[in-house]
Amino acid sequence: MLQFIRVMILLKLRQQLHIDKNLNIEFGIPRILHFTLWFYWFQATFVCDEKTQHLFEVGIDQYYGRLTRRFQELLESTQIASAPMIPYPDIGGLAPTEAYPLARSEAIIKLRSMMKNYKMTLTTHLTQESNLITKYFDGMIAEAEEQKKKTLNLGKDSEVIQQRKRSLELEKQARLIELQKKMTLKVDVKLLNLLSVVMPKIATPLKPTSKHNLSADLIVVWNPLTEIVEPISCPHCWNPTLELIQGSRGTIHCTRCKDEETNTSRKESKKTLRNQTERVSAINRKQS
Ligand SMILES: [Zn+2]
Repeated sequence: MLQFIRVMILLKLRQQLHIDKNLNIEFGIPRILHFTLWFYWFQATFVCDEKTQHLFEVGIDQYYGRLTRRFQELLESTQIASAPMIPYPDIGGLAPTEAYPLARSEAIIKLRSMMKNYKMTLTTHLTQESNLITKYFDGMIAEAEEQKKKTLNLGKDSEVIQQRKRSLELEKQARLIELQKKMTLKVDVKLLNLLSVVMPKIATPLKPTSKHNLSADLIVVWNPLTEIVEPISCPHCWNPTLELIQGSRGTIHCTRCKDEETNTSRKESKKTLRNQTERVSAINRKQS
């Protein structure tokens, strides 16, 4: 049975990964391991003429150190439990404190977009309100001016009306400044909670070797929830990819790295592959 599952997994990996025919590939034994997703819950408070709060989450995949937007998908899964049913070994990865800067920068990107929409609404509201205040006071000032003219024509003292005009001007300015202050947006953000979601996935070591004898030690992950192979990290640029190619100098990388290959020395590629190998070895040491 186990042999059958192993064959099935390897078949799926071969189907979903696009690996250059010039690369010799070697799959290791698939293992079930626990992978953790960190969900950082932020609370943003927008304060201006009124106070509104927004709650939003930013997900980080602990193993890859990448953003994940799978919260809704996980919530809809019927198999959520408070603790893992089987204590599979943990693949490890970033600690919550190490992943936090990435979560925070993503939260700022989300906030910028929310603030942009908020500011557009505020600007429209501010213009409308300012126009109403200006119109109201300008009307009163014009009325006072008329009264002043009439008083002067009658040869009477217009000082009282003049004072009223000045106080109307001052009140208009004070109302406009007060409105401006009320419409100034202040945003307060804080981290409310951290949720960790642990899920079993099948991790299979993959070792592609090029004709120049350069190789990379990678781990391919099959997600049973989505039934897809998760993108591996390119041995060269670390970007997620489902495609590996052999470069003209025997380097192994994703298609995005292809254009930059001419600028990359072979020495640097060897160094990158060595770094990847060290990372995989560290994970293996952690598991054993
Ligand atoms: Zn790449």
